[in-house]
Amino acid sequence: MSDSPIDSLRLQFHSDLASAENEAELRAVRDRYLARKGGMVSGLLKALGSAPPAERPRLGQLANSLKQEIETQLDARTVAASSTRTPKGTVDVTLPGRLPVVGHRHPLAVLRERIEEIFTRMGFLVIEGPELEDDYHNFEALNMPADHPARDMQDTLYLSAPMRSSAGNPATLLRTHTSGMQIRYMETHQPPVRLIAPGRVYRRDNLDLTHTPMFTQVEGLVVGENVTLADLKGTLDLFVRELFGQDRTVRFRPSFFPYTEPSAEVDISCAACGGTGLVSKPGQSGELGCSMCKGTGWVEILGSGMVHPAVFEAVGYDSEKYTGFAFGMGIERIALLKWGVEDIRLFYENDLRFLEQFPL
Ligand SMILES: [Zn+2]
Repeated sequence: MSDSPIDSLRLQFHSDLASAENEAELRAVRDRYLARKGGMVSGLLKALGSAPPAERPRLGQLANSLKQEIETQLDARTVAASSTRTPKGTVDVTLPGRLPVVGHRHPLAVLRERIEEIFTRMGFLVIEGPELEDDYHNFEALNMPADHPARDMQDTLYLSAPMRSSAGNPATLLRTHTSGMQIRYMETHQPPVRLIAPGRVYRRDNLDLTHTPMFTQVEGLVVGENVTLADLKGTLDLFVRELFGQDRTVRFRPSFFPYTEPSAEVDISCAACGGTGLVSKPGQSGELGCSMCKGTGWVEILGSGMVHPAVFEAVGYDSEKYTGFAFGMGIERIALLKWGVEDIRLFYENDLRFLEQFPL
């Protein structure tokens, strides 16, 4: 046996070591050369047994120094490799940041705030009250005594048993409108009054495209000396333009409510057809009737009127001295009109793909 197998093993080791790139590959190199069973250095030491006795000590020395050299260099490289390893559970601060998912307010909440903001700027107070109401505040004080046919206009959800409330009379029903708050406020405050009462109301309606058994209403009330129908028109005209845009026009249509006299439904010009009642559809000649306003050019948004003297009498106001107006609108209906949504149920199904489409 000559020196050459030792020299060529050294050369091979240096080439293997140079190409090892990580700790796993270094471990493989260590096994290849130093494993007790099958390692190339171990094989070399065994082969010494067949060398001529005079050569053995020198060859043994050479082989052992190669073994030491391999161990030293492998150890050095392994330490170096482990120092660049990312410890478990650490964060790579060089990665690009992940944006947190930010919550989104519900479009009906956004719209309610917008409506409150418009009226607040006009000097209105925002008041809230109980959803469980008594018959007096929901009906009787609003000029709807027990046998009044107008009660049928608002199919009511009654409680199975009356509930005692801090507000006085036991509650017997889920309020059908927030008008009860107007009574509660007038019972405890003298004119002038300028308020809106937003909140949930309940009616025995089946769920369909335009009805839900629970919806959100905003009612308004203004009472003072010399408050006229012109003030009502001016207030609602300003409100509509603020909410829907300056190009929208408003019209009043005579109507009936028990708690106002005279009463009017308020319409705004239709956004889909610009108030013409006609739309042109791509690929079709001529114009068709607008489906949003049923060809009339107008869509109804709210009810209103001058406060009925009987309501003032119920709260102890002098109906000779004071006049006032009231109005009420459904926020869901306004949402359908404002955003061109065709199915009211979409607002309550909590499908984020729908809800995220509303900015503001
Ligand atoms: Zn239209």
